[in-house]
Amino acid sequence: MFESLSDRLSGVFDRLTKQGALSEDDVKTALREVRVALLEADVSLPVARDFIKKVQEQATGQAVTKSVTPGQQVVKIVHDALVEVLTGEGEPGALKIDNPPAPILMVGLQGGGKTTTTAKLAKRLKEKDGKRVLMASLDVYRPAAMDQLAILGTQVGVDTLPIVPGQKPVDIAKRAKQQATMGGYDVYMLDTAGRLHIDEVLMDEVEQVSAVVNPRETLLVVDGLTGQVAVEVAQEFDDKVGISGVVLTRMDGDGRGGAALSMRAVTGKPIKYVGLGEKMDALETFEPERIAGRILGMGDIVSLVEKAQETIEAEQAERMMKRFQKGQFNMNDLKMQLEQMIKMGGMQGIMGMMPGMKKMAKQAEAAGMDDKVLKQQIALIQSMTKRERANPQILQASRKKRIAAGAGMEVSDLNKLLKMQRQMGDMMKKMGKMGKGKMLKQAMS
Ligand code: GDP
Repeated sequence: MFESLSDRLSGVFDRLTKQGALSEDDVKTALREVRVALLEADVSLPVARDFIKKVQEQATGQAVTKSVTPGQQVVKIVHDALVEVLTGEGEPGALKIDNPPAPILMVGLQGGGKTTTTAKLAKRLKEKDGKRVLMASLDVYRPAAMDQLAILGTQVGVDTLPIVPGQKPVDIAKRAKQQATMGGYDVYMLDTAGRLHIDEVLMDEVEQVSAVVNPRETLLVVDGLTGQVAVEVAQEFDDKVGISGVVLTRMDGDGRGGAALSMRAVTGKPIKYVGLGEKMDALETFEPERIAGRILGMGDIVSLVEKAQETIEAEQAERMMKRFQKGQFNMNDLKMQLEQMIKMGGMQGIMGMMPGMKKMAKQAEAAGMDDKVLKQQIALIQSMTKRERANPQILQASRKKRIAAGAGMEVSDLNKLLKMQRQMGDMMKKMGKMGKGKMLKQAMS
């Protein structure tokens, strides 16, 4: 069995003392373990290497969250980065199947699960999307494969194109298209022939079929347990015939799913579905979070870190609320609010959510309070000394001049900022006195 990444990391980090931010050494040590875990999960070496490099840049210097260990925090960063790589654009599992009859070409090596997946997907399209589906087998080399599709078709209640012995794949494809058009089908799926290995004849055949039907989707079906091989197969099929998505089968097995990461990183194609068994309903849309957790073998840590971050944010908010209730709202608080506003999409975003501030938000927008202005205001606050930020009322005319000049602004701008801090302080105090219940009520109205 695999040694879990969390075990490895806790060993490493037990020896490290906690500091304010993740140091380069902390991150490097942790990522060495992550790299081994990725390779064990069948992620290819260049992909693992690139991935680690990216994460290293992201993680170094990040503030350490107090209620978790640095190791756990690195894992969270790694997890988020995994999800990012694994997430393709668009809705997961969505297929381009408007304009009936929409052709879907199923390609892949023999034994990868192509025929099974064709039937599973047909069943899904029929039951979940209410589509009328026609399936056709183009595997003229193995009559058993054609029979297999017909049997599965009966099993899932989806029509299959009648078998005409001796017909070439391209001709079967043409017949399927004709039948789908005449029969009023929404989708027709072509199950192409597989080989044990990629060969030219196979590729040429798929190319010809593709040219004839012009598929809306070309889905590559690969065995998720074959790791590296699966990625090479994907790359080759994509180069030769162009694929629009991937279905990873046998994800119900012991494999850790590293192929998914390599697949995304190398081909850039979305993984649309995963096969989770031999049964006809064992096909699910691909979920990046689930695979990321599986690659790391530790979903628990990620939720732990998320919870810790929530706790810390709640604690911070509570502390702030207490200060506001006492009428304490200085330049540090204002700076934090301004930074928050930038993060939340400007003045409108944050103020619109605060009770009684909708009007002010509109005024702010009218006054051109965009990100640029917010950043200038932050620059002004940064030009102040620590003491001045805590007690802005001590500012004398000469200091005001210097602060404004330091931020490349006018004294009048600084005066506006001071007025804003006073007004917001008053408002916060009022809100604090109202208590949470009332505030909520007002916010809802
Ligand atoms: P093809 O040669 O690519 O058409 O492969 P088949 O569809 O005939 O599948 C080969 C074998 O793999 C069959 O026994 C299937 O039942 C099995 N299979 C397909 N998909 C999955 C899957 O997601 N999980 C498991 N455990 N078995 C699968």
